[in-house]
Formats: sequence, C-alpha cells, structure tokens
Amino acid sequence: MKQHHRHTGPTLGKKPKESGLLASLLLWRRAFCLWWKADPRLFTSTAALLLFQTLSPYVTIYFTARLLNEITGACRREVLFSLTGYVLLSTAVLALGSALFTRRRNTLYAACWQKKDQFVIQKLLQMDFEALEQPHTHELIAKIEQGQNFGGWGILRSANQFQDLAGSLVQILGAIILCITLFTRKIPAGHSLSLLNHPLFLLVLATGLVGMTILSPRLINRADSFWSSFYKTSTQGNRIYMFHFRTGMEQDRAMDMRIYRQDLLARNYLGYAACDFAPGSYADRYWHRKGGAYYALSAVVSRLFTGFVYMYVCMKAWAGAFGIGDLAQYVSAITALSAGVSSLLYCLGSIRNNAPFLQTEFSFLDIPDRMYQGSICVEKRTDRKYDVEFRDVSFRYPGSKTYALRHVSLRFQIGERLAVVGENGSGKTTMIKLLCRLYDPTEGEILLNGINIRKYDYREYQQVFSVVFQDFRLPAYGLGANVAGSTHYNAAKARRCLEDAGLSPWLAGLPDGLDTCIGREFDENGIAFSGGELQKIAIARALYKDAPFLILDEPTAALDPVAEAQIYASFNTLVQDKTAVYISHRLSSCRFCDRIAVFDRGTLVQCGSHQELVSQTDGKYYALWQAQAQYYQT
Ligand code: ADP
Repeated sequence: MKQHHRHTGPTLGKKPKESGLLASLLLWRRAFCLWWKADPRLFTSTAALLLFQTLSPYVTIYFTARLLNEITGACRREVLFSLTGYVLLSTAVLALGSALFTRRRNTLYAACWQKKDQFVIQKLLQMDFEALEQPHTHELIAKIEQGQNFGGWGILRSANQFQDLAGSLVQILGAIILCITLFTRKIPAGHSLSLLNHPLFLLVLATGLVGMTILSPRLINRADSFWSSFYKTSTQGNRIYMFHFRTGMEQDRAMDMRIYRQDLLARNYLGYAACDFAPGSYADRYWHRKGGAYYALSAVVSRLFTGFVYMYVCMKAWAGAFGIGDLAQYVSAITALSAGVSSLLYCLGSIRNNAPFLQTEFSFLDIPDRMYQGSICVEKRTDRKYDVEFRDVSFRYPGSKTYALRHVSLRFQIGERLAVVGENGSGKTTMIKLLCRLYDPTEGEILLNGINIRKYDYREYQQVFSVVFQDFRLPAYGLGANVAGSTHYNAAKARRCLEDAGLSPWLAGLPDGLDTCIGREFDENGIAFSGGELQKIAIARALYKDAPFLILDEPTAALDPVAEAQIYASFNTLVQDKTAVYISHRLSSCRFCDRIAVFDRGTLVQCGSHQELVSQTDGKYYALWQAQAQYYQT
C-alpha cells in the first residue's frame, strides 16, 4: 500500500551551541525573580529547611568526634554524659525542624506545578489576538510542554535549583569549618610519615581532590546535556504524540473517532512519533552507550576520591597528628565537602542545561504585545447612546496578501437592529472582529463616539460588546455560572436571561436548575445539551452581560425552524434598547432588522431596508434573495 504520510524524524545527534555559564545564571535569576514574585514563601521555607537539614550532619559529626576522643582519651564520666546529652538534644531539635520545614516546603513546591502553567496561561490571555494565531506561538507552547514532560525542565526546575544551589553552598561552608584543623595539625617531627606535613604534598593532594571533585559532576552534566539537544530536535514527534494522546481523550471527538476509526489513523502517526524513544532510537542508543558510560565514570571518580581521603586522614592519625575522634570528624567532613562541591557543580551544570528550556519559555513570555492598549475611559452612559462608525476601513489578516475587507464605511445607528448578510467568506465575521478590536484595521479607522477606538482602554472598550460567536465554547461548569461568567451571580437575572433566550419550560424541568453542569466531565448529573440548547445558553450569556451592543454571529444556525422563529419573534424583547448587529447568510431571517448591510468579497456593496434592497433587481441582495427563495421553494 502506498504510504502518503512521510515523517523524516528528528535530525538527531546535532549538538546545539551551549549557553555560557554567566548567560545561564542570568536566565536562572530571571526565573527565580518570577517565582519570588509568585510566592516568596517557597524560598523562605527552603532557606529555613536548609539551615536545619544541611547543618544537622555536621553537628552530629562534631559531637561524635568529641565523644570518641573522650572515650579513647580521658574517658571522664560526666563529660561523656554531657556530650551524649548534647548529641541527643541537637539531633532531636534539628530533625524536628527539618521534618517541619520539609513538609512546608514540599507543599509549597507542589503548588508550583500549577503556578508554572499559570505563567503560560496568563500570557496567553493577555497577548495580542494576532499573536495567538501565529504557528510560532504554538510551537513555543509545544516546546515548553515538552521540556516539562522530559523531566521538569524549564521554569519549574529553576525553583528547585535554588534549594540545590543554596544547599550546596551551606554544605561546603560547614565542611570547610570542620576540616580546617586537618591541615594545620602536624605529624610529630621524626616520624617516617612527616613528609605528609610538607606544603608541596598538601598542594598536590588538594589539586588531586579538587580535580576529582570537579570531574564527577561534569561527567553527569555532560550526559544530561543530551536533553537540551534532544529537545530541540524531537519537537515534531512530541507534538504529534501529544496531539493524538489528547485527541483520544476529548469527549466531543469520541463519535468521529469511532465512526471513522480515527484511532487506527492515530496509531499510524503515533508510530512515527514514538520512534524518538523506541528501542534502537537515538535516545535509546545514547543512554545505553555514551550517556550510560558518563554516569558510570562519574561514580568511579567519586569513589576514588573517598578512597584517597580515607587513606590520607588515616595515615595522619596513625602517625599521631590527631586522635580517633578527629579522624572520624575529618573523614566525614571531607566527604561532605566533596559532596557539597559536587552538588554545587552539578547544580551549575544543570542551570546550564536548563538554559535552552528557559530561553524558550522566556521567548514565549516576551512575545511583544504590539497592539496599542489605549488609556481613555469609555464614557458610562445610562442612555446607551454609543455611536460607532467604520470610516473607510480595509483589513488584511497578518501574513495574508489579500484584503478580507476593503474600504468599508458604515455607521451603527443607536438602538437599531442591523443585519449583516453576504455569502461565506465575504468578510462579515472579520468586520465583527475589527469592531471588538481583536485586530486593528490595516487602513482607515473605527470610531466610538467620534474617537478612534484604539485610544480607549482596551479591556474597557471590549465591555461595550456582548457577542455570540459562531464557535462559542461553554465550559463544563454550572449553567448559572456559565451565563453570568462568575460563580457569584444574580440567580434571578440569570434565570430571566435563559427564559428570554427561549429556555423557559426547559429550565423548569432541570432537576438541579441553575446548578446543572453543562456536560458530564465534572458532574455525573451534568447534562450533555443539544447544539440548539447550547446556542440559546450562549445567547443568554450575552444578555446577562447587558452590554450596549449585542452582536449575534449566525445565532440560529443550530436551531430548528420553530426555535428560530421563536427567537425572531422575541428578538425585540431580547435586544431591548441595545444596538443589535445580526449576522446571517439566511436572508429570510434578517427581514425584521431595520437595516441590512450586504457584503460581497470584502466590500460593503449595499445598505438599506429589506424592501429597498429587494427592489434593486440588479443588486447583490436581490440575487441572493432569489437564489435562497428558489432553494426554499424546491
Ligand atoms: P464570513 O464571516 O463572511 O463567512 P470571514 O470574515 O470569516 O467571512 O472571512 C473573510 C475572509 O477572510 C475569508 O476569505 C477568509 O478565508 C479570510 N480569513 C478569515 N479568518 C482568517 C484568518 N484568521 N487568517 C487569514 N484569513 C482569514
């Protein structure tokens, strides 16, 4: 069978340019500031935890060393008792504090999972509508998700890195304090090992230890840098995977999935996507060979280091530089020092490996908002005398060469019912999008009460409109909350709006009334309403908002003829003193409007009442009317 789909797979093995440490630290600092702003308690509790957790072993090491010295030395009873008491007391206090702050910190950290998504969602909600439609925006979102799924890379990881970074610094400091005397205490002169006192030997030893300490985490970071390069090349496979994974879970696709066996189609595509991780894939080969070898080598180096430290400290103790208790202290402190330096280096490496992920997240958060936000307040008028005018407006969608609207001039008369008609693709919805300022005109201007709408505060301006879009969505929450757009709402008003939208008897029959959930995703008593019922709920939502302009884009497309007739009959009651714009390609449903604007291929070709337009036999309206009348007759 001929295979139509071709997926070349990621270009693997190419290692992108690494970010420098300084640049990575600056990115990390920016992420840290974001978290700090979101919840500073995350860091204050982590700092408290570190104090208890990191210092705890040192206190134990210190007192245990004193105890051992006393046992092998003077062995005084009262000193032994008091030292044991100190060990017990300090260990108990530190363990208690550590346990308390671990819980607190973990709870706060768990909340970060939601907060990290909030950063993305907030940006999505406030970015220019135009940017929302750009493929680049979606690619960035897919990459962010992918980084998080790969192992919490990105902004989330930077929250954790604070603990690693600060923890390793405290650990190093504590260890240095405990092992300073190891180097100052000398082997008695004349002993065969007194060579160990020589500064040159100390230098060689220190260099060796530092070298091994650095090498071990570097090997791990080298292995882990795989993720930042792999992530750049496997986006396509991951996007395919995520898409098909979600497709299967979306309830409103379930019918299509079964009837057209889309699961089989998905499986075919998934085969290509999954190959990124499948046995024999680049990832699989990498971790079996190079990546695995780096990890193994790192473990060997770290054990060698511990071996050398034991040897040096034991030799000095044997030669009489210090007692058995100090031996225990130094061995533990140096091992802890090495662990501290290792974890510091590992953390710096991980900050570096995280840099590409942060870069992606920040490129998303930095997508510029080019739309002028305006500052003038919209006049609050109780008489609803809002006057809107399109003045020679032309518009091209971003990236499109053709105009969707061309030289449109139109004035909305206050309180009128205006119908906008035209064939599909003639620019009706585009006009509404411009009116609601989802886009700005390419040429010309739109005025509200004589002032260019760009000058009004963006959010406030949008409050002037209630729109029922063709592809509206109602979330699976309660009916009343959906209508009001809030969980605290005026139930009587919500009920009235639903009744005005034609849902009166239906509403009375709902067992849970306004609390009925739309769909059954969150509530087993929820109801999967029909398309027509949903459309009426969407109309009720627009009525509840009670804005001066009511815009209905094909509001009756999903309604049966009886329901449609009911809506028209009650249209005047619905609209009251609002200015209503009614979009439809069914001309018969526009006759009740005062004025009809006819669009054809992006231009406003006619405007007038039904009688005026239908009498112009050479006009577009007449042609459309005839075509539709014929259709209804046949
Ligand atoms: P109508 O509402 O009259 O059916 P539209 O206003 O939706 O028509 O579309 C007008 C023209 O603009 C059509 O040619 C359509 O393909 C184009 N168009 C609509 N939306 C976009 C978009 N987001 N990007 C590019 N072109 C678009």
